Formats: sequence, C-alpha cells, structure tokens
Amino acid sequence: MRRCIKQPIPEIFAAWDAMKEAAEEHVRGDFVRAEALFRQADSPKVWEWLNSAWVGVTKNVVEMKPAGDTSVIPKSERDPDRNIAPHIRKAVLERDGYQCRYCGIPVVHADIRKIAAKLYPASVGWNNRDASKQHAGFQCLWLQFDHVEPHSHGGRSSTENVVISCALCNFGKDRFTLRQLHVEDPRLREPEHTGYDGLELLREFAVPKPRVPKAKKPAVDLCLSVQPAAGTERYFIPGAWVSSGYLLTPIIEGKSRWFKLSEEVKAEYAVRNGVGGCILVCHPKLLERRGINGALLLDTH
Ligand SMILES: [Zn+2]
Repeated sequence: MRRCIKQPIPEIFAAWDAMKEAAEEHVRGDFVRAEALFRQADSPKVWEWLNSAWVGVTKNVVEMKPAGDTSVIPKSERDPDRNIAPHIRKAVLERDGYQCRYCGIPVVHADIRKIAAKLYPASVGWNNRDASKQHAGFQCLWLQFDHVEPHSHGGRSSTENVVISCALCNFGKDRFTLRQLHVEDPRLREPEHTGYDGLELLREFAVPKPRVPKAKKPAVDLCLSVQPAAGTERYFIPGAWVSSGYLLTPIIEGKSRWFKLSEEVKAEYAVRNGVGGCILVCHPKLLERRGINGALLLDTH
C-alpha cells in the first residue's frame, strides 16, 4: 500500500513557497515582486508531475479486481447529492485544513486562483478547457473535495466520506477505489494541520465586476492620447479598476481608495510588466490627501 498515487516532488513545495511569498508581497504592495514570484511558481516540472498522472488515469490502477472490493451500484441507489453541500465542504475544510489528506501538499481554493489571475493576468494564466494554459502551481495545488469511497460505489457526500485533496489525488484517483489503487485510507490518519493557509489572505482582493451603466457614455476616460494638464502626473496603480466614473484602488495600507474621474482626473486600463491595473492622471496632491505615496506609483512607461 502507498500513501498516495504519486509521491510529491520538491518543486511543488518550492512553487508553494513562491506563491505564498507572492501573496505576502501583494499585501505589502510590492506588485512587481509578487508578479515575478507567481511567474516563478509556474514550474514546468510541477506541470509535468501533475499532467502525466491525471490524464489516462487507468494507468494509476495497481489491481483492477482486488478481493473484497466494493463495486459500482445502480444510479438509483447512490447518494442523490453527488455535489457536496456547502455546509459539508465548510466542515471538511475546518477539519482537514488547506492540505491534501493523501499526499500532504498544500492546497489553494479555486476562488483564490481566480483572484490571483485577475490581479496578475500575465503570470497566472488559466484556461478551463486547455490544461497546457493553466498555471502549474495553482493547477497542482488546486483544492478538491474528494469522495474517499467513490460516489458510484455508494460513497456518501458526507463529512465521513469526503476529504480535502490536491488535484492529482482527486482527478488521478477518478472512479477507482483505494483498493484498486493500493492507496491507504487517509481517514485512518489524523489531519496534520501543518499551518498551510491556502493563500486566503488574497481573498479580500477580489475585484468586483465594474458596473458600467448601459447605453451611457463609457465611464473610462481615455487619457493616454490626451496631453496631461499642467501640474498633473501619470501614475500606474496595479489592481485598480474603473467603475461608473470612479477609479477604485485595491487595498493600499489597509483600505481601498477612490478617485472621481473628471477633466482633471483621468484613468485608463493598462498592463505594466505583466500586471493589470489603471493609469491615473491627476494632480499629486490627490494621492497625498489619500495617504498614498505617489512617488512609488509614477508611471515611467
Ligand atoms: Zn495530494
């Protein structure tokens, strides 16, 4: 018997370290460093480790018909809730923490990956239909809720039968039983709680969808083609967005700030060094008033 289908490689933990540091740098406001770290975590070795095991999963089976194994039961007899209810997910996550119960690697919720991909579109690539265009770190550490006993074999969507797992341990296991895979039952071990935090500190940076009223003049003022007014400066604010005539910033030193767009205050979407955000053209005093150090944000593009 083995603990998991495939032994994790050190590069996975290196990718996790880079992602964790990236999230911390983002919170600190060093967006360029955060971008570089997310890029670093997109490791080809990690990608290969996962993708060679979750495609053609039958090869992960050690014994197709082990003695005493469960078998597929009629659909009418299965748990009608194939999807795991939110309160079960919450309880399982609280019990297991952000760590795969099989192989022990850290895991990150898909919500967090979506936030990171919005903040850093150039380094956190994600295409749902094409695994080759998915960031290796987020792909490998993708938090799953795994039915230990397969749903098709009568496994319930309950806290007793569901554990937190990584992408490989869930998708690589597919419809097969632990006996078929020669994998130990993770429920016989206590959850380890090694302190992985699932990068949840990024959750507060979720960018709401801009609500631009329809059939009205677009709220975004194109400023790059316009000569800036005297006394104004051009800033690049990573992660900022424009909505209904306002530029809104991500959390800077504890809070989000907003600027009302006008003749003197103009904004436009832009990407700098792979980081998405907004160009803001305005008088430096507007940033000063909001306690933002404008010198760090001057757009030198
Ligand atoms: Zn795992």
